[in-house]
Amino acid sequence: MMRSLLVVVIFAMPVFSDVEPILSNYRISGQDLRSLQSIAEKFEIHARTPKGLEVHVPTGRAKEFLLMAPNAELLEFDIHQEIDRLQGSNSDWLSGYHQFAQVETILKDYASNHPSFVTLTQYGKSQQNNPLYALRVCGSKTAKRLPQIMLTGATHGDELITVEVVLGILDHLISGYSSDPHIQKLVDNHEIFVVPVVNPDGFKARLRTDNGRDPNRSYPWPENMSNTPTASIRAIMQFVDSHQIAGSIDFHASGEMIMYPWAYTESRPKTTDEAIFRDLGNQMARHNNYVMGQISTTIYIAPGSSADYYYWKHGSFSYGIEMATSKVPHSSQIASVLKDNLDSTLDFIEHF
Ligand SMILES: [Zn+2]
Repeated sequence: MMRSLLVVVIFAMPVFSDVEPILSNYRISGQDLRSLQSIAEKFEIHARTPKGLEVHVPTGRAKEFLLMAPNAELLEFDIHQEIDRLQGSNSDWLSGYHQFAQVETILKDYASNHPSFVTLTQYGKSQQNNPLYALRVCGSKTAKRLPQIMLTGATHGDELITVEVVLGILDHLISGYSSDPHIQKLVDNHEIFVVPVVNPDGFKARLRTDNGRDPNRSYPWPENMSNTPTASIRAIMQFVDSHQIAGSIDFHASGEMIMYPWAYTESRPKTTDEAIFRDLGNQMARHNNYVMGQISTTIYIAPGSSADYYYWKHGSFSYGIEMATSKVPHSSQIASVLKDNLDSTLDFIEHF
């Protein structure tokens, strides 16, 4: 008896191991729902939205899945496969993208080259012991309390373009400080916290997830206050809880959308807040023609997201921006995605 139990335990191990399958995300709707029963037996249906059901499909099983749901829509590709495909046809695809170690060097160099207005803070460590960095950009020499702004990238580790855009905005703020009076005014009148990589474990592995979990579903939210965040998310929550962030943008990709809470429900935020969210969102969208609206009704219902947490807990005007039309545009496109998001972000900061 003992022996057979042991065998069962050993054979069961791989199922519970922390080896992370690489997944694409598909949406099924319409006729394909007829195969729902057999799809549900073989694949993980992880979300139900007004547009259909979302299914995680592991690498190598897409064919099997598409036989059951031939009209399924690919929402998010497995980036590893996509990068292989892109690089196969065009080897300089990723040449403009930074690795985590390079991001780290850039942040340290900014702080040591501009000590009068740039400070690097490590606010924690990820589950795999990667440092979590925030760069504070603020030129004020007075003790006066200034509006605090936070800009974050790579909550989803495979959304590589977000890191490049956040670094590009950072570069503009820092290099413009001494040459551009408008930038100088922004930096002297705000405390701007920039976190280019929220989820370094995912970013280094080019995975959406943070050690197997979706970090942007791991925040507590009003209907599940005890939801347990991932290690990286817990650290940024503590960072935010110890500040008074007036406005934040969490950059994602892709879709060209500027969105505000709530994400967990189609109910709307407080009327007076919604008016500000919409005015400011429209003002940002004027620069890039991105679609603007509430998260739950513009993209999908997503409980446990950053925007909801920062708005709910701190009353922050917290946006989620889905930039670009791909998570990893060709490196020659980085400059134009940055252009789309630079002036809108400067307007955002200026609002506070
Ligand atoms: Zn994302």
